[in-house]
Amino acid sequence: MNKEYGFATKQIHGGHTKNLPGALTSPIYQSSTFVFDSAQQGAKRFAGEEDGFIYTRLGNPTEMELEEKLAGLDNAEAGVVTASGMGAISSTMHTFLKAGDHMIASKVVYGCTHSLFDEGLRRYDVDVTFVDTTDTAAIEANIKENTRLIYIETPANPTLDISDIGAIAKIAKAHDCLFVVDNTFCTPYIQRPIDLGADLVVYSATKYLNGHGDVVAGAVTGRKELIDQIHMVGMKDMTGSIISPFDAFLVSRGLKTLDIRMEKHVQNAKKVVAFLDGHPKISKVYYPGLESFKGHEVAKRQMNLPGAMISFELKDGRAAGEKLMDAVELLTLAVSLGDAETLIEHPASMTHATYSPEALQKAGISEGLVRLSIGLEDAKDLINDLDQALAQL
Ligand SMILES: *Cc1c(COP(=O)(O)O)cnc(C)c1O
Repeated sequence: MNKEYGFATKQIHGGHTKNLPGALTSPIYQSSTFVFDSAQQGAKRFAGEEDGFIYTRLGNPTEMELEEKLAGLDNAEAGVVTASGMGAISSTMHTFLKAGDHMIASKVVYGCTHSLFDEGLRRYDVDVTFVDTTDTAAIEANIKENTRLIYIETPANPTLDISDIGAIAKIAKAHDCLFVVDNTFCTPYIQRPIDLGADLVVYSATKYLNGHGDVVAGAVTGRKELIDQIHMVGMKDMTGSIISPFDAFLVSRGLKTLDIRMEKHVQNAKKVVAFLDGHPKISKVYYPGLESFKGHEVAKRQMNLPGAMISFELKDGRAAGEKLMDAVELLTLAVSLGDAETLIEHPASMTHATYSPEALQKAGISEGLVRLSIGLEDAKDLINDLDQALAQL
């Protein structure tokens, strides 16, 4: 694949195997295992002396196509695809952390990521400090002798906190820590953490990468030496979090339209934000594209577009939020994000229900916070629906 090709060309042609018998779209290799020509060949493949497939948990052509496509879009050397975003994150942590290590994580992260770090990893005697990673100095101040890894989400789910990827990469390098960025909210079309100095980028491919609400999947991209370890240790042996070839095919298919989808998502989000900002029943809108938003300047530097995730607080708190979610007609009440459908949800009782009330407060996730994932519908229909629903409060 020519590295000079543009984003759209890479999202369509990346990873495609040219030696297939004339098919425009690669076939789905829905096979659990691969046949050896001879005992000698089988032994050589297991010994790593000969390239070739062995068993789908160790590699599969359909998955490899997606891995190469995604790595290309992220300007990464390699990628590995997993059964879910949590599979990607846990496989990465299991590969690089061991008992006695310390890690630093953003205090605002996806709910299950928070419980993996706060409860899961502590069971294995990994010490975790949650830090406000929008404050670069706070990261430096919390680094210990045994800090091995720094993990951030930017924009963070659901407050859209912006952390400075380039500045944190420098700290990570200076202290010999692996730097991992969850780029689910942006996708490589909007933000490329590897270019800014991150070691590894993790994704819930369930969201924008697939984009059609019909797959649960995950991915990690980064240097080949690191990705090989995740593949052969964390993924193969420790979590077994392998994606099915059919799901990998669907994500590759979704990726072919990533750029135009992201453009439309963002166009719609900007229009919805213009409607919500200053609305008499809303006290605060969280959106990186708003000049009044705390992380706006950093966001402008590291993101090509402000994204299509919006959170807002209603003046009348949780009760108003619940009422709003029941009052919408076109907007769909569901967790997840990045789909063609606009989704509305309540983080405190849904995606972030794993946080304790104290952790919610510390993370700045209020009981009245409502999160929107803006879809690909006509913006005027979304605004009309929000308008009629807000009028009912
Ligand atoms: C959804 C999500 C995850 C988890 O991904 P799954 O595919 O649901 O396992 C991780 N990080 C972020 C930011 C998410 O939104």
